[in-house]
Amino acid sequence: MTQNSRKIILVDMNAYFASVEQASNPELRGKAIVICGDGRTIVVTASYEARRYGIKTGMTLPEARRLCPFVIPVIGNLDKYVDVSLRIHKIMLEYTDQVEVFSIDECFLDVTGVEHLWGGAVNIAAGIKKKIKEQIGITCSAGVAPNKVVAKLAAKSKKPDGLTVVEPDEVENFMFPLPVEKLQGVGIGARLSEKFRLMGINTARDLAMADGGFLKARFGVMGAFYKNVGLGRDSSRVKKYSEQAPVKSVGHSHTLPKDTYDISVVRSYLLMLCEKTAARLRGYKLTGRTVFLMVRFGDFEIFSGRETLKSCFNTGYGIFSLAWKIFERVLPLKKAVRLLGVGISNLAGGDTQQYLFEDMQKKQKLSAVMDEINAKYGELTVKPSSVIIAQKHGILGRCGIISTRLIK
Ligand SMILES: [Mg+2]
Repeated sequence: MTQNSRKIILVDMNAYFASVEQASNPELRGKAIVICGDGRTIVVTASYEARRYGIKTGMTLPEARRLCPFVIPVIGNLDKYVDVSLRIHKIMLEYTDQVEVFSIDECFLDVTGVEHLWGGAVNIAAGIKKKIKEQIGITCSAGVAPNKVVAKLAAKSKKPDGLTVVEPDEVENFMFPLPVEKLQGVGIGARLSEKFRLMGINTARDLAMADGGFLKARFGVMGAFYKNVGLGRDSSRVKKYSEQAPVKSVGHSHTLPKDTYDISVVRSYLLMLCEKTAARLRGYKLTGRTVFLMVRFGDFEIFSGRETLKSCFNTGYGIFSLAWKIFERVLPLKKAVRLLGVGISNLAGGDTQQYLFEDMQKKQKLSAVMDEINAKYGELTVKPSSVIIAQKHGILGRCGIISTRLIK
């Protein structure tokens, strides 16, 4: 198959972390928000509303507030973003197994040979965009092109909510006017583009037309690669989804809104984390038998431990029983708890698992129903009673979405 006949799509979520938070919390929609890391100070992602004030990734929170005093900071929750990513992957995998996860919010698809089933690659890209919007509630930008480099730049060229198609005979017209700074993300970083500028290479066209020998002398083997980027040529293949690392463990962690000595608060959060872990485990159709718990204290010291059972399980309560057993080792608390993380490993396929006890089966059924409702109406719509208690005490977010937490 010649290079030009390939049909490659890149799908890139727009302001991903911020969009997920806005999708899961109506109070944040249409507002300038920034997602901060656990340190609660650096902007990881800004919503488009915040970007309008000039707020950018990497700024400190005070800098962001100077630009927009009413910006709403939210502590990011990577577990949640990973979960949403997996749901997005599922949508893409309906079309092909040639889905390469490039980053948490970007995937390449190679739909060569299957595109006619859906009326062409452009229709597939449009279909994926529509499904992500309907099912997840966020927008993405897609690029359709004969290779990965051009697909990526095409997707980047229109944000948010873009769909940019570059046909094989349009590649040079699309590429050539691009300034070298726009080639970031396809192997040409900021420093390198500065170097190019100093050499008089200002656009992709200049790069494409540069003498091969000259580029080789300056950049070695990478010289030919850069020239090809300028030309919009790339023969690298899109990996299959199954070629990516399998799941070895599943878990969730959560930084508490404020450090606490209150065991009942810890218990509520732990129960909630175990329910979420179990839901994700069932989503993978897996079971596990080793539970690990991580506790970070106010002084950032970490305690961790694990417990293993002989047989596998996948219920939130099963995970909680072991996690609580581990937690009891740090009682009585000498320091306030800042963060809790729970996970399960020693995973096995869930289908062969035999459950001996009837009440175990009942719990399984109940869990499956909870998964369904939560998948439809958002996380933790159905909650174990102690999560509700925690909510009453104002520990959880007002919308019941625990991970949407505003920094005071
Ligand atoms: Mg993105």
